[in-house]
Amino acid sequence: MNQMVTAVILVMVTYFSGYCVPKTVANLKSSILPPLGRVPAAVECTSDNSKKPENILMRLAPEETKKLQDQDEEVKPGLFEGDIAMDEAMYDKWRVGFRWTNFPDKIWKNGIVSYYISELYNEASTQLIHGAIEKINYMTCVKLIPWDRQTVDYIHIQPVKDPSGCWSHVGRRGGEQVVSLQAPTDYSPGCLASEGTPIHEIMHALGTFHEQSRWDRDKYIDLHRDNIKPNSLQNFKIQPYHKAFTKYPYDYNSLMHYGNNFFAVDRSKPTITPKKEGVSVGQREGMSVLDCIKLNDLYGCFKGHKESYYRRICRTYGVK
Ligand SMILES: [Zn+2]
Repeated sequence: MNQMVTAVILVMVTYFSGYCVPKTVANLKSSILPPLGRVPAAVECTSDNSKKPENILMRLAPEETKKLQDQDEEVKPGLFEGDIAMDEAMYDKWRVGFRWTNFPDKIWKNGIVSYYISELYNEASTQLIHGAIEKINYMTCVKLIPWDRQTVDYIHIQPVKDPSGCWSHVGRRGGEQVVSLQAPTDYSPGCLASEGTPIHEIMHALGTFHEQSRWDRDKYIDLHRDNIKPNSLQNFKIQPYHKAFTKYPYDYNSLMHYGNNFFAVDRSKPTITPKKEGVSVGQREGMSVLDCIKLNDLYGCFKGHKESYYRRICRTYGVK
């Protein structure tokens, strides 16, 4: 229901403010030129408000409401764990590549990641993605820098059409690497309702898996398999102990944790229930305190005299 309300509010704001703007280079914050080669299919974005519904609240039929509620860009079918892109070879080879000692190639060297934000986004979306990047840059020693069109490895943030949704590869792949973030539409905020989802997907690209895929998760959550869509059961697999990074306590508050009704047959009922009382899962506001500490640890940010500095940043700015 919350999603629907959010979407409706977004639509109303969009309608009255003329949210979408012409996509010209001048509108973009990024000063770098478009990449050569592959350009994805465009996400439609129009400034023609005559095409928008006059009042979506009056238009919504029950089946439309259900469709709206089912639109969760992070849980599109066909992707590993819902939002992780992985071809067959990669799946077998390093589906649990969270422990750097086992998968050293997947870390971004020196914590530096070049990025390019597609010009297919409008100004508001571009700014939101920039905001997500600035958060990571501020809270960790990982540095996302604009792609210089020469660096071989970089992430290309774009609204991929097929498969659509919010998704990413895990860790550095080598070469151009897609991070897919759907732009808002009339009916859905896409992957840009807040900075949380862009940060979530970039954290995948930095090498982070979902929190509930930890080998020890059954100590912390109950799964309701009877309410999980059968073809999505694989998304709830546990990663083996020897491959998964579990140095830190289980984090219900992680930005990388599924929400309590992800992949649900009946979305009014949960697929995940925390064993601990009074906690919720699936926040997409931003990095939790522990997400921030873990990412800093993974990227060696605690070396030298920086540990207390970054821990303080994480405690201050991490979602609690
Ligand atoms: Zn994810």
